[in-house]
Amino acid sequence: MRRAAFILPFMFFVFGMASLRDRVGVWSIFRFGDPAESSDGFATCLKRTSKVGTHETGHMLGIRHCTRYECNMNGSNRIEESDARPLALCPECVRKIWHACDCDPVQRYSKMGSFCMKHGMAAEAEFFRKSREKIEPVSAKNR
Ligand SMILES: [Zn+2]
Ligand SMILES: [Zn+2]
Repeated sequence: MRRAAFILPFMFFVFGMASLRDRVGVWSIFRFGDPAESSDGFATCLKRTSKVGTHETGHMLGIRHCTRYECNMNGSNRIEESDARPLALCPECVRKIWHACDCDPVQRYSKMGSFCMKHGMAAEAEFFRKSREKIEPVSAKNR
């Protein structure tokens, strides 16, 4: 509690918080726009929620902020910074997720691409489709 009181006055507002040690986290959609306003409002809120939710989940899996690449694990203190942050992870952070979740990278990219395509995130869907295509031959070779 003392730590939060020290940090909060310096932040514009908090999108979410997570503990690397205790593996718990929380985020709010309060400032992500009104999802009931219109289909664009829903899409904006969903995209922001997806970015912050996956970011905080990364922290819950023990991943710190990424400063080396443009990455979902980049820190942000303003909505503009959060909007500019990609949904995708950089090569270093994505390997941490694969390790922590023991997931199949090809399957993960397929599911991420399908989710983004279904919900109107075309650029993100294309990124995940291309990523799946790049990793599929490597993944098949390692089986
Ligand atoms: Zn963070
Ligand atoms: Zn990263």
